[in-house]
Amino acid sequence: MFHFQEKNLTVFQSSLYKTTSAVVHSEEAIIMTDPTWLPEEIAEIQSHIQEHLGDKQLYIIYTHSDFDHVIGSGAFPEATVIASEGFQNNPKKEEVLEEMNAFDQEYYIERNYEPRYPTIDRVISADGEKLELGDMTLTFYQAPGHTNDGLFTVIEPCGIFLSGDYLSDVEFPFIESGYHDYKETVEKASWIMQHHDLNTHVPGHGNVTKQKQEIMDRIDFSKQYLNRLLDDGTGLEKECRNRFRFFEGMKNSHLENVERASKEVNERK
Ligand SMILES: [Zn+2]
Repeated sequence: MFHFQEKNLTVFQSSLYKTTSAVVHSEEAIIMTDPTWLPEEIAEIQSHIQEHLGDKQLYIIYTHSDFDHVIGSGAFPEATVIASEGFQNNPKKEEVLEEMNAFDQEYYIERNYEPRYPTIDRVISADGEKLELGDMTLTFYQAPGHTNDGLFTVIEPCGIFLSGDYLSDVEFPFIESGYHDYKETVEKASWIMQHHDLNTHVPGHGNVTKQKQEIMDRIDFSKQYLNRLLDDGTGLEKECRNRFRFFEGMKNSHLENVERASKEVNERK
């Protein structure tokens, strides 16, 4: 459902996990992230795109390959698709499809398109790769740690940072592919803030912010969280419970993070 609109940015936020689909309008193109989740929500995004597309090209950036972020891909067959090399070479494409189908089976969901794993037109394989689209420049950075195929996108000159499942204001970091990778990716986010002029942040789950300080705070919280995972029982869980309204629902991911972090650190010793 509709979440945010200002100038050339419109953001839809699903009722499920506050998952976002960002839509950026440039002179030549419409650029969208992760169309998701429910049929009515995807239909709302489709009609927004139809209303504004005209003779512009539609681009979809997939921020990573978790099934909830690609479940809407079949609804936009005309789009030019951008994702990381890891996304393209994902050895678990079949599993992603199975997860989409299992979700629709569980909740009796009918879609008027065939769920599928996206086919990529533009594969991003290096940090700092650029794509010029008329008045806008997109710069991409690899973002492993949550999954190993994550992608950050910076859009200038409008100063938008699309971070996928990092730097959320409604979730602590979910470490699914690597603790050390995750730490480096958060450091990369700091570097990006220093080297690009950014004023708007759209996380993959949660709320848009227009405050630069809020973006920095989100980065700082992730850094602290990752470091404090290694201290035992210093109140991190309590702090997360206070900070995140839906902590009870995601508590297991926190406990898995604690285990994963100490395991990875011990392996490096
Ligand atoms: Zn997600």
